[in-house]
Amino acid sequence: MNEMQLKFLARSENETFARNAVAAFSLPLNPSLSELSDLKTAVSEAVTNCIVHGYRGGEGWITLVCRTEGNRLELEIADDGVGIEDIGKALTPFYTTLPGEERSGMGFTIMQTFMTDFSVTSEKGAGTRVKMAKTFGEAANAG
Ligand code: ATP
Ligand code: MG
Repeated sequence: MNEMQLKFLARSENETFARNAVAAFSLPLNPSLSELSDLKTAVSEAVTNCIVHGYRGGEGWITLVCRTEGNRLELEIADDGVGIEDIGKALTPFYTTLPGEERSGMGFTIMQTFMTDFSVTSEKGAGTRVKMAKTFGEAANAG
């Protein structure tokens, strides 16, 4: 078992920081290039959501917890922002509350597709927490 925790400001440059930090932490598990790419994309989508939706471009902290156990990596990415009104709707492909701002409403769908496990909890006015996990070296993910 191994674990790391990060806390960083909701700034767009920290999206790159977060996805590369998680990728670096995952290297001892020997992910394939495609697994690494999927993992980085999922982290980017979750962090971007905290920045653009959770804090609506304003100030705030994002926390990231990353654990590994065997060939499985678990992630929690959370903000203390506005929260999600209707999680069912938010998870629907192409649903976005920012349609005019080049958002396609595919972030959660991408996280679900690229990770082995995914769940989101949120409280209006209190924040949002995404939990994801990826098991490396599975036949379906190999390559
Ligand atoms: P895309 O990710 O394709 O750029 P998007 O961010 O709108 O577009 P999703 O990432 O799937 O799409 O999120 C769907 C919706 O869920 C968002 O439009 C927003 O309303 C809500 N949402 C997602 N993450 C958060 C968050 N951290 N805080 C508040 N609302 C969120
Ligand atoms: Mg998004």
